[in-house]
Amino acid sequence: MSGFPPPLTQPQSLEQCLKQYFGYDTFRPGQREIIEQVLQKRDTLIIMPTGGGKSLCFQLPALLKPGVTVVVSPLIALMQDQVEALQDNGIGATFLNSTLSPHGVRQRVSAILEGKIKLLYVAPERLLSPQFLEFLDRIDAELGISAFAIDEAHCVSEWGHDFRPEYRQLKQVRSRYPHVPAMALTATATERVRRDIVKQLALQKPYVHVASFYRSNLYYQVIPKEKHRFTQLLNLMRSLDGSGIIYCSSRKRVEEVAFKLQKENIPALPYHAGMEDYERIENQTRFIRDDVQIMVATVAFGMGIDKPDVRFVIHYDLPKSLESYYQESGRAGRDGEAAQCLLLFSYGDVKTIEYLIEQKPDEDERRIARQQLRQVLDYAASTDCRHRIQLRYFGEEFPGNCGQCDNCRHQKPLEDWTVEAMKFLSCVARCQERFGMNYIIDVLRGSKSKKVLDRGHDKLSTYGIGRDKTADDWKLLARSLLHQGLLDQTTDGYSILKLNRHSWEVMKKQREVKVAVPPKPQLEQQSRSLAAEVGMLFEHLRKLRKTIADEKQVPPYVVFPDSTLQLMARERPASEADLLEISGVGTHKLRQYGRQFLSAINQFCEEQGLPLKSAPPKQQTISIWDTLSETLLKTLELYQQGLSVDAIADERGLKPSTIYGHLAELIALNYGDIDVDRLISPERQQVILNAIATVGDDSLRQIFEYLKGDYDYGEIKIMLAMWRSQRSSEIEF
Ligand code: ADP
Ligand code: ZN
Repeated sequence: MSGFPPPLTQPQSLEQCLKQYFGYDTFRPGQREIIEQVLQKRDTLIIMPTGGGKSLCFQLPALLKPGVTVVVSPLIALMQDQVEALQDNGIGATFLNSTLSPHGVRQRVSAILEGKIKLLYVAPERLLSPQFLEFLDRIDAELGISAFAIDEAHCVSEWGHDFRPEYRQLKQVRSRYPHVPAMALTATATERVRRDIVKQLALQKPYVHVASFYRSNLYYQVIPKEKHRFTQLLNLMRSLDGSGIIYCSSRKRVEEVAFKLQKENIPALPYHAGMEDYERIENQTRFIRDDVQIMVATVAFGMGIDKPDVRFVIHYDLPKSLESYYQESGRAGRDGEAAQCLLLFSYGDVKTIEYLIEQKPDEDERRIARQQLRQVLDYAASTDCRHRIQLRYFGEEFPGNCGQCDNCRHQKPLEDWTVEAMKFLSCVARCQERFGMNYIIDVLRGSKSKKVLDRGHDKLSTYGIGRDKTADDWKLLARSLLHQGLLDQTTDGYSILKLNRHSWEVMKKQREVKVAVPPKPQLEQQSRSLAAEVGMLFEHLRKLRKTIADEKQVPPYVVFPDSTLQLMARERPASEADLLEISGVGTHKLRQYGRQFLSAINQFCEEQGLPLKSAPPKQQTISIWDTLSETLLKTLELYQQGLSVDAIADERGLKPSTIYGHLAELIALNYGDIDVDRLISPERQQVILNAIATVGDDSLRQIFEYLKGDYDYGEIKIMLAMWRSQRSSEIEF
């Protein structure tokens, strides 16, 4: 168990405390205001989206106030994660729950009573047991309880999606310790649940903070599913970095996709409710610890899983509702770093879902399910800002134009495709409504396939009138017609295209057809924009992090979050002071990991010939900088611009031999990468070297005379410097 944080020797600003304990430089929106209120013992209700940084709002005050903060958290896994992360920051935190042995409990209890613990995590059911309440009385009397922090506070409400009756009894604890302020934290979006929380937890004139549910680090994109959907997924996987979740709608699909990915050497594991408990837990742990990169899962995966560095969430099947889509995709990028949320969408899938909906016995259920499906479809087909659609669903006004969704980045222009639609529909008519989409496109594009020729469809008036567009363009149009209800398709498994009333309106030019033309589906490559070296160093540091994490048996993000490794890769810190400047590196982390990360960075930079942020204080480096005079540097600068010796001499108003002298000095210092071949022809070099070998390297003049004045002093100086530096390296090795 880690120790109590060192006492603050002098009053510090909240920012300084943030840096010292957590290594961060600035507060996230809202955090500072909340913390100030909490320090004044006010009750608070904090509503922030996942990844908003709720925990810090009770963790930092807990360190600044005397006594113990009791954190109520419903999920054991979450508790352990948070406690591990705190301990790794050198903060005294522990949990008490049913997984501990009696001995483990006793140890923790005495640590608490010895004042080593600032944050005590408990499950709600334990909080209410008589023994625990007695223990709390003791804490209250001897140390003081600084606050109750009630995480996932929506569990108190029947209106929420995760009601837990134990939460209702928290009210009793509140009345037992009326002097202790309470904090309720949740990511719940609905107004009704919020009001219920205030009532059920008897919050007194609480300070309420409702953050925007906009997650600016998440990039949303809808990608039309291609025919070979697994290949498409595979290509997608190969272009994505980091951990990711692939959500599928059924257990069978989960098994299938995980299996196929494994066969393609992509480290993926399945997760669904039909698996044995131990297997599920093991797969989950391996994902959290970065042993595998991909989790293929049903929606059973995610609740209470707190991996902050999930870099992408792909929905391989349609989500059930827009709300579930927000929650599931929102499991990406909890650490605030860029992450991608991709929805693979196909109208074909809709049919399956519709079929399943119609199997539901209850009409109300069917109605709600249909409506939810429609909202998801509208989302997928919309050309509006994706964030805006989601936030509007939660009653939040968002201006759109986010730059963080496919629609905002590539405004899909609505194009008038009436003429194309007329061509397509009349081709369906000429083929007597007996074929599917691909066949119609074949005819339009003048295919010479046997099928088309045998049927004599090359004689149709619509044969070959669509050569100006690609097959994909035609598919886009066909899907859009289907989606807009301007064309029908049978659901008997053959997907035969059928004309309807609206189709005829189009063909009679009574109706315009507008199609939102998306850019070619391609992945946004945000992380790729970084220079290749930064990416390589990042990977290198990730490996180190993984090794350390495995040794300590904690998830890698506990050691450092991705963002911190990214900064290290970008800044290439050389000293402990440099490292401490990086967000996410506090003093405790520096002591624990500083040396390992610095030497990894140093080694990488040496291998790759990259400069460090500030050169490490090596004797040699300093001496070079001391030796390099102003005039030497000026010569070097001109040399590096590609000027010849004569040109440099001209430019500087010096004699060429002086410039040669400068360059010789640089060679002697092994500085500036002077290319001798640029200065002296190889033949002349050889003659001078022979002379040095014959008369020795003691006297410049002797060499000059031996060469009978055919060679300049400057050239000889250069070769002498070369000779000496080569000799000295021979001696060394
Ligand atoms: P929530 O509980 O709201 O889902 P967390 O408290 O788990 O979110 O915080 C999400 C992530 O953001 C964590 O990795 C946390 O360390 C990080 N974080 C929180 N506050 C800050 C901050 N001020 N600066 C940088 N990172 C922060
Ligand atoms: Zn947008």
